[in-house]
Amino acid sequence: MSKLADNLNTILQRIKELSELNQTSVRLIAISKTKPVEDIIELYHAGQRYFGENYVDELEKKSNDNLILTQCSDIRWHFVGHLQSNKINRILTRVPNLDCIQTIDSIELADRLNNNLQKQSKTLNILIQINTSNEQQKSGIEQKDFLSLYEHIKLNCKQLICQGLMTIGSLDNVNTEDESDFQVLIQCRKELCDKYNLSINDIELSMGMSNDYERAIQVGSTIVRVGSLIFGVRH
Ligand SMILES: *Cc1c(COP(=O)(O)O)cnc(C)c1O
Repeated sequence: MSKLADNLNTILQRIKELSELNQTSVRLIAISKTKPVEDIIELYHAGQRYFGENYVDELEKKSNDNLILTQCSDIRWHFVGHLQSNKINRILTRVPNLDCIQTIDSIELADRLNNNLQKQSKTLNILIQINTSNEQQKSGIEQKDFLSLYEHIKLNCKQLICQGLMTIGSLDNVNTEDESDFQVLIQCRKELCDKYNLSINDIELSMGMSNDYERAIQVGSTIVRVGSLIFGVRH
């Protein structure tokens, strides 16, 4: 078995063990940023379907690659980076198999996406990105504002299918046992479900990366975004 497939299977096995304990189902998004399409294809053939990128240019290029188009017809792309408004039309019209934009963090962004999708008569899965660490430079909507963004999307953005909440979390916490960013996201989901009378099983939580995906699953993550642990370190 190839090294990449080996890495993938180790992580999938770990995800399976942890999610069975919690009786949740957890999706793995392989974050392929900076990595070549050959790596993506290898993992696709090993069974991986969800891949994530954080730059629109790179996502556009990879998703239109001839080998990807011919060999990976069932691939599903997630966008996990900050989306600038001048890139909205490109991501919505030039990325085949775009499955989800995980980083909706303002009413303006939601409206622009919705208007563009409406013209194409298309819908798109999204997550609301929350800045759980309150770091100024980090993107994501502030915790105090996310319910009004959710409400706005529900009422006015019919092309957007809000599947849940996402956080990157504080990079300062990476090697500690500090779960506060995860706990903030869990608390947000609770508020959302209480207010709209939803089951918590209906709201996904995208949290956890290479260094903390196991802890994230233990506390209830349903989407983990793992890059370097699968692909190796980025340069
Ligand atoms: C790069 C990235 C990841 C993956 O990071 P690793 O530490 O390599 O697993 C996850 N989420 C987002 C938003 C990223 O930009």
